[in-house]
Amino acid sequence: MRFSKEECLKFVQENDVRFIRLQFTDIFGRMKNIAITDNQLPQALEQGVMFDGSAVPGFAGVETSDMLLLPDPSTFALIPWRPQQGKVARIICDVKNHDGSQFAGDPRYILKRTLQKAQDKGYVFQVGPECEFFLFHTDDVGQPTTTTHDSAGYCDLAPIDQGENTRREICLVLEEMGFEIETSHHESAAGQHEIDFKYTDALTAADNIMTFKYVVKIIAQRNGLHATFMPKPLQGVNGSGMHINMSLAKEGVNIFNHPEAQGELSATAKQFIAGLLEHIKGITAIANPLVNSYKRLVAGYEAPVHIAWSPMNRSPLLRVPSPRGEGARLELRSPDPSCNPYLTLALLLEAGLEGLNRGLQVAEPVNINIYNLTSEEEKSLKLDRLPSNLLIALEEMKKDPLIHSTIGEHIFTKYITAKTQEWRDYDTTVHQWEIDNYLKIY
Ligand code: GLN
Ligand code: MG
Ligand code: MG
Ligand code: MG
Repeated sequence: MRFSKEECLKFVQENDVRFIRLQFTDIFGRMKNIAITDNQLPQALEQGVMFDGSAVPGFAGVETSDMLLLPDPSTFALIPWRPQQGKVARIICDVKNHDGSQFAGDPRYILKRTLQKAQDKGYVFQVGPECEFFLFHTDDVGQPTTTTHDSAGYCDLAPIDQGENTRREICLVLEEMGFEIETSHHESAAGQHEIDFKYTDALTAADNIMTFKYVVKIIAQRNGLHATFMPKPLQGVNGSGMHINMSLAKEGVNIFNHPEAQGELSATAKQFIAGLLEHIKGITAIANPLVNSYKRLVAGYEAPVHIAWSPMNRSPLLRVPSPRGEGARLELRSPDPSCNPYLTLALLLEAGLEGLNRGLQVAEPVNINIYNLTSEEEKSLKLDRLPSNLLIALEEMKKDPLIHSTIGEHIFTKYITAKTQEWRDYDTTVHQWEIDNYLKIY
C-alpha cells in the first residue's frame, strides 16, 4: 500500500509508532538515515528535516552544509523487526537544499528526472532485479569472516543449505514491508543466495533494492551471520551479481514484444539493446563501482566479460529471457549489488532510449557459449570487452556525454574524483599476493 501524508500521520497515531527513520542514499549507493520521534512527523512532512550535508561523502561542501530531507510519504513502511510497542517505521526521502530547492546530488532525484523525461514521451520503464549475496559467519567478537559451513550449490535444499532459515526470514520480513517476492534460492557458490522480487516501476525498484540490502543485512545479523553484497568476496567461485530485467511500456502495452511475429523481439527492443551496448563501457563505472567489482567480471564464473547479446543463451552481457508476449524483457547481467541503483537504472533507461531516438542498429546476436571462446573465435566475432578494471571504466565514463547529462555535473565530478582516489589507494597498496609470490624469490 502507498501512503499519502494524511495516511502516514493516521497510521503513526493509531499504531503506536514512536520513531520514524528518514532514509536516503548517497551517491555511492550507501543508505543513510536520521530518526525522528512521532511528534516531529507532521512538521517533517511539510518542511523537511535539517541535516549536515557536509558529513555525507559526495554531498555538500561545508559552506552549504545545511540540507533538508523531505519524506516521500508513499514509501512509508513499518520496520517489522523492531519492538511491537513503540514501533519504528521508515520513510524514504528526497534531498533538498536548505532553501527547499532540489539538491543536484540526490541520486533518487536523478532517477526521477530521467523517468519524468521518459514519461513525457509516454514511456514507462519497468524493472525486476535479481540480487545475489553471501551469508558468512562472524568471529568471536562479532566481526565478519569469509567462511561458511554451508556447502550447498545452485537450488540445493536444507540441511546442506544452511542459510535456508535466514533466507526464509528475510523473505517474510520483506513481504511484511510490501514486497512481492517471486522466488528465492541457494546460488551456485557455498553460502551464496538469491532473492528475486516482482518487477515494478523503476523508482520503486530502486527504493526496493536499497530496502532489500538493509533487510538482508539486519536479518542475517539477527541470525549471527554477516550478509555481504561485495561483488567477489572469494576467489575461485562465482561472485554476486544483480541482473537487471527491463521492459518498456507505452499506453499500457509492452513495446519490447513484437506486435505480429510471435516469439520475436520488436524493432524497438533491438534499438534499446543497441543503445545499451553502445554506452555500457562508461555505465560500467556506475553499475560496477568497486575495485572488487572487476574481479567478478572475469571468465568462468557466469558473469559477463564480452559486450554481446543473445535472444537465448545466458553467457553474454545481455540476454532475452524466454517469456515473450507481455512478459518480454531484456536481462542485463553485468551490474552488481554494490552499485547505486538509482543512478544505474537512470543510465540504463537513457542509454536504451537513445537507441530508440537514433534508430540504432543492434549488432548480430552471439548464440554460442561465450565462456568457451578461443581467442581466434573472439577475434573473428569482433567481440569487444567490458572494462577490465575500475580505472579503465572511469576513463570510459569520462568520454561519455550521455552519462554526464544523465547524472549531472555535481555527481559526475564527485564520483570521478572519489573513485579515481579509490583506485589509486588500491593500486599503490602492496597486496598479500605480491608478498607471497615475490618476497622469497627476488
Ligand atoms: N553469480 C553470477 C554473477 O556473477 C550469476 C549466476 C546466475 O544467476 N546464473 O552474475
Ligand atoms: Mg536469477
Ligand atoms: Mg543468480
Ligand atoms: Mg538472471
